[in-house]
Amino acid sequence: MRQLQAFGPRDLRIVEVQDPVLSSEDEVLIDIRACGICGSDKWYWSVDRLAAKIAGHEVAGRIIAVGDEVHHLRAGDRVAINNVQGCGYCEACQQGRYVRCANGVVHIGNGFADKVVVPARNCLKLDDDLSYAEGSLIFDNWGTPYAAIKRTSLQQDDRVAVIGCGPIGLAAVALVKSFGARVIAIDPIPERLKAAALLGAEACMTPSEVTAADVDIVLECSGKAASYELAQSILRIGGTLVAIGEGTAFTLTPKVLIHKHLTFLGSLYSSMEDGKQIQDMIRNGVIRPMSMVTHQFTMGQLQTAFGDIVECRHGLIKAVMVNDNRKE
Ligand SMILES: [Zn+2]
Ligand SMILES: [Zn+2]
Repeated sequence: MRQLQAFGPRDLRIVEVQDPVLSSEDEVLIDIRACGICGSDKWYWSVDRLAAKIAGHEVAGRIIAVGDEVHHLRAGDRVAINNVQGCGYCEACQQGRYVRCANGVVHIGNGFADKVVVPARNCLKLDDDLSYAEGSLIFDNWGTPYAAIKRTSLQQDDRVAVIGCGPIGLAAVALVKSFGARVIAIDPIPERLKAAALLGAEACMTPSEVTAADVDIVLECSGKAASYELAQSILRIGGTLVAIGEGTAFTLTPKVLIHKHLTFLGSLYSSMEDGKQIQDMIRNGVIRPMSMVTHQFTMGQLQTAFGDIVECRHGLIKAVMVNDNRKE
């Protein structure tokens, strides 16, 4: 099979490798049909030597083979993969919340390839109405903000600020809107604010334009220190800050936290149940994940296009690698 390997800075190449094989009886072999490209895949373009891991963690595909202990799935099933693998035994894993595994999580990755082996419990069967590309967006692009919002006590008509309107932030805008709350979208890039307005944000502005101070909930999706500080200043008394964007350190002033009675939450990826609920929302037309997919690439095209993708050039909002998008 083919795999997209990172050999060095700006040096991706397709390499022929052995097909992966099932190493335990509860695994399945997937023929990858689509893999979303996430902002967190950016590292793949700037490795300094041959990377030991294969990036790509937003996978949907068709099952080719199942282990002897797998009874609820079979070859031919179309599935979306929850990228976070837990131990499978602890209480969190029993509930399909692998992101909270007591024994540590493993990020499966290996999505920029033709095939991947995953635990059967990480597979969500795709409804016939969903394409593989849509399926690839369930657990991270939409599941991450969905799980984060579920951690809050969001009410109808709440004022919610989404800081950072990349794919995760834009999905957050659409989800908050679908729950009947009001959205303020904050991002320095005009194209992203335009996309946020189309998804239902009632106010769109750059960070320097923000004057609000009565926000109920902030969903921080940019991972920038200044954004976390902005969040603390715009929340009302009793407001909630949800950390979704990582990759920075920031100043959290206890005085602000205490005097404003703020709640501070974190959330990582999503559970199997979240994935199921996202799929229902897609099927019922509540959300339209493909509406923000501006670009699709084959694996071959990623070799040269990857830099443009991670730098969001040419008006790119969200890109998906599509090997074969037929519904079969
Ligand atoms: Zn991701
Ligand atoms: Zn576990």
